Amino acid sequence: MTTSPRVDLVAAPTPLHALPTLTAERGGPRVLVKREDLAGIGGGGNKLRKLEYVLARAVATGADTIVTIGAHESNHVRATAAAAARHGLACIGLLVDETGVAPTPNGGNRFLASLFGARLVHLPRGTDYEAALAGAAAEVRAAGRVPFVVPAGGSTAEGCLGARDLAVELGGQLRELGVEPSRIVLATGTGGTLAGLAAGADSLPGRPVLHGVSVGAPRARQRARVEARLHTLVDLLPDLDVVRALDRVVIDDAQIGPGYGVPTEASCAAVSRLARREGLLLDPIYTGKAMAGLLAEIEAGRVRPGEVVVFVHTGGAPSLPAYQDHFGRAPAGGQGEHAT
Ligand SMILES: *Cc1c(COP(=O)(O)O)cnc(C)c1O
Repeated sequence: MTTSPRVDLVAAPTPLHALPTLTAERGGPRVLVKREDLAGIGGGGNKLRKLEYVLARAVATGADTIVTIGAHESNHVRATAAAAARHGLACIGLLVDETGVAPTPNGGNRFLASLFGARLVHLPRGTDYEAALAGAAAEVRAAGRVPFVVPAGGSTAEGCLGARDLAVELGGQLRELGVEPSRIVLATGTGGTLAGLAAGADSLPGRPVLHGVSVGAPRARQRARVEARLHTLVDLLPDLDVVRALDRVVIDDAQIGPGYGVPTEASCAAVSRLARREGLLLDPIYTGKAMAGLLAEIEAGRVRPGEVVVFVHTGGAPSLPAYQDHFGRAPAGGQGEHAT
């Protein structure tokens, strides 16, 4: 185990439950959902487990201001803003235009991040993340304060360590249920969550494949990203066998569509379907793409009836207001029908 310091953010264990309608409709695999979207404060999501170790490191360095970065509708910036608020730290969130599409005024995460007290700075498409973070940190220092920089997605070695806790917790829950899943399906972006799961994969009964549905990068690049994260994790877990961990990982790049941050027809269909059949909220950028990937695997017969699959719900629903126009709803202030 590890002795890395950790602050408390996650209401662990998060629930693990069945999606009965989905299973019945497909006459097929038993799908369990691991509810990381319910992981405690700030709208939940997979970033909170990372932030437990990342913020502990920040506090240990004497920082008083967290500086981080993400896309316009970043779940990571929103979660970091909440976590910083909880631990009495200021937070600056740099929000980069990643899609070239003007953000709607209904931004969900942007609204919430400012509600949590973060100062948000909007930056144009093509912004160099490292340079922007360094510049913002220098400004904090010039103001006599102490910055701590958290890179996009919080996927430092400490961040990946948090995702490894998820594997250990999930492994315990699966053992208690007496099930051995054939796959764990999840969205993969900066790769930290998948790397952490892979690092903890020996805790999962049944040797499941870790099926990462890429939300932006093609297969080879995403795999290299996960591998790089695993190598940084060796600093904290010297016994980690990177080759063995990576061997569990499969990258699926069939759901990216036009690119990161852009909803697809399949991701929106998955969001609508899970909302209508299970009352479960996904988002069209991460979990909708991951669920679309799982549904495609079931459709193609690559996941068989009788198998057990775990879908890791990594969060993201707080971004939904920003994408409402993709769901056939009239924009606010448009010609929509009024209820009264
Ligand atoms: C950040 C995020 C991911 C991807 O996690 P990584 O560790 O960056 O790969 C998946 N789902 C949601 C909802 C996220 O916000």
